[in-house]
Amino acid sequence: MYQQPIFEGRTIMTPGPVEAHPAVLRQMVQPILGQFDPEFLKIMNEVKEMIKVPFGTKNKQAFAIDGTSRSGLEAALLALIEPGDKVLIPAYGRFAYLLGEICQRAQAEIVWLEKDWESPFEQSVVIEAIKEHQPKIVAMVHGETANAQMQPLDQIGAFCRENDVFFVVDMVATYGGIELKVDDWKVDIAIAGTQKCVSVPSGMSLITYNDRVEKYIQPRYQKELGLGSDEQSERYVRSNYLDLTQLQRYWGPERINHHTEATSMVYALHEGLRLLLLEGMENVYARHTKNDRILTESLEKMGLEIFGARETKMGTVIPVRIPEGIDGEEVRALLLDQFKIEIASSFGSLKGKIWRVGNMGYSSRQTNVLHFLSAFETVLKKVGYEFDYGVGSTYALEEYLK
Ligand SMILES: *Cc1c(COP(=O)(O)O)cnc(C)c1O
Repeated sequence: MYQQPIFEGRTIMTPGPVEAHPAVLRQMVQPILGQFDPEFLKIMNEVKEMIKVPFGTKNKQAFAIDGTSRSGLEAALLALIEPGDKVLIPAYGRFAYLLGEICQRAQAEIVWLEKDWESPFEQSVVIEAIKEHQPKIVAMVHGETANAQMQPLDQIGAFCRENDVFFVVDMVATYGGIELKVDDWKVDIAIAGTQKCVSVPSGMSLITYNDRVEKYIQPRYQKELGLGSDEQSERYVRSNYLDLTQLQRYWGPERINHHTEATSMVYALHEGLRLLLLEGMENVYARHTKNDRILTESLEKMGLEIFGARETKMGTVIPVRIPEGIDGEEVRALLLDQFKIEIASSFGSLKGKIWRVGNMGYSSRQTNVLHFLSAFETVLKKVGYEFDYGVGSTYALEEYLK
């Protein structure tokens, strides 16, 4: 017979998935409700409202999509792109290439703007590229998890709005951890996920878009075959599951049947968002900022170097250069096997060069920071890294005791 697996709890200090909040996990074992049960519809409507707060938007449209964060990215891009449409993708890290991958499959014409991964773009550089290439859409990442750099968006957004370009932004790694201003920055569609700063398991994506987008996608709506043939469109979105025009009508007052909602995930999302609002967004952001500062300073006290430009470092990930002569994977394995602590490696050109320490959601808390730093020092000592052993964790403790 197969054994029921029982897992020992982990201290997850990665850029996702992070530890789910215990109250979120408790919500997931509530009885199943049908997707049109009035009590469930009430929860859905509350989720729609709560999603808007961390995005910093008053948009009418905000809801969740079944599927991890990239389901939201794909739904957003498929709703806007028709074959041959030009999309400008400024890339300063790994996730821009995911946007490109999705645009390529949607048969867009992609214009890449590429740079090293040490810092984000000067906004003027992106604006010049928009002037030169006249794209229909600019798709960018707000916080790049691979290198922990964060892109300023306000000027690009304003320029896009003035020139009738759609501005689509991946806010997966910053939503719920860093203040976002979707409306002020003039972002047309913003996308986030559950498994990062919302402290909910992976499996849903959050999306919001403005009237401009709603108006544009309206003529692309086609009623699902089998529900009636009264609403047809030759320009229908090339996906059924990720058709924003259908999803909007499922989450909206029309309640047109689409997929069977993952109701337990919606309970979890409701609780994750509720807890953020209960703590207060300002307090949530202050907590992330404080833990980011203490982690960063403690690691530097240990003689470690933080990767990339400091002014634009994202507060939810700390990218640490792996010191000369140290095997980064050996360190990660010792942390996980001996301490049940997980940190991440990186991708592409940074693979094997940096560790990434996450500072997200429920995982962003004092006990995790102290536990991680103490264990990390012990492991680094064990693998022969020379430093003043104890200096990082004692510094962090002093900071928390202030
Ligand atoms: C984590 C992350 C994603 C991941 O998408 P999933 O589909 O949830 O794995 C996308 N973009 C960014 C910036 C991320 O940090």
